[in-house]
Amino acid sequence: MNSMVMILYRILQKKNASQIPRILANAIDFLETHYDDYAQDPVFLKDIHEIGAVISTIVQPGINVELASRLLPLMRANHIPIRMASHITAVGAAFNFVSSTINHSCDPNIFLFFEGNQIRVRSLKKIEAGEELTRCYTPEHLCIVRRQPWLKHGDFFDCWCRRCAEEDKEIRALAESGGTTLGEFTRAQVSLDILLNNTRSAAATPNIYPPGFSDCNYVEQTLVELATEPMRIGEWPGHIDPMPSVRLTLGGLMVGQGQVSRGTQYALRGKLVCRRRSGPSWVNEMIELTMHSLAAYSVQDSDSPEFADPRVPTTRDADILLCGYLYRVRSEAVKWFGVGTDFYTRVQDLFNATTEGRNLVHRLDSAEFEKEFTVAQEKFLKWAGIPAEFGIRLRS
Ligand SMILES: [Zn+2]
Repeated sequence: MNSMVMILYRILQKKNASQIPRILANAIDFLETHYDDYAQDPVFLKDIHEIGAVISTIVQPGINVELASRLLPLMRANHIPIRMASHITAVGAAFNFVSSTINHSCDPNIFLFFEGNQIRVRSLKKIEAGEELTRCYTPEHLCIVRRQPWLKHGDFFDCWCRRCAEEDKEIRALAESGGTTLGEFTRAQVSLDILLNNTRSAAATPNIYPPGFSDCNYVEQTLVELATEPMRIGEWPGHIDPMPSVRLTLGGLMVGQGQVSRGTQYALRGKLVCRRRSGPSWVNEMIELTMHSLAAYSVQDSDSPEFADPRVPTTRDADILLCGYLYRVRSEAVKWFGVGTDFYTRVQDLFNATTEGRNLVHRLDSAEFEKEFTVAQEKFLKWAGIPAEFGIRLRS
């Protein structure tokens, strides 16, 4: 919300100074505000009126309270989240008339990313002449149980695209076979989302959230309870399994609290055990996995008794896996973002900094390194209880 208030402030400031371009002024009248939908939520309505009053009286004297509070839902409904290289969560929000008019699809054909202060648009698949451009309003990897409430409460529509129809069929079959209902799945899902959000926030800003959410044992226990009884997660097909992002977050939390081995196992399972093997957000998630968990694993004390067990991957194995994953991530970054973009440059810098400090015997593009990488990855997968089919190939 903070970044949206900042955008609103800037728009009002320009509007006051009559610097607002005509196209943007028209857009504000043209775009969907969902004001009436938001009005159903008294808390949100109260919030936007209070923020509107603050902007009108303190920040921008002379602005109509009603205008400020009406523009806020417009920002909320039409903003584009700003995601940068190596950041999974949005670092801010932008408002752009053209991008705001692009419709949603859960199986989109384009994605947007930021290059300096520009929004870049790139295709995700072949687009035929005359075909509508669509982007996904939710993080694409979310399963239907998480996408639908997001679209319903954030964008006020029910999506019935082909992907939603297929996943809806699968989830109903899953509920019926276990004698549960979709409602139970949804409630457990909401609990999972709250757990995940609070865990992320507690890790970023300790002392504000209830202490339990920064305690990885509490988070793990709650996760296991939710995953077994209401969700019966072991029975879900991989592509609609809602757990990967939760496992990845929990893994990061554990690593941050010094439980490097268990945290790395969770993070590896969270990232690798899913059907999505490529794509722009895959790049960022892989960077999180490698730079947080594997990097911490690789700098542990190699004389520690834990490494006496030959089944436990060594810190050297972690070096190899880390460099191999970044090698693949770099080629994915070229594919999705293009050489010469800020995004690619950041990934390249990360790659150089990481690989240079690790005395690799072979060049990363050699057959010898590929063999070393395959052996190291097999060891990690076995140790983390991940089926071999989920391994990542060095080359796409
Ligand atoms: Zn859909």
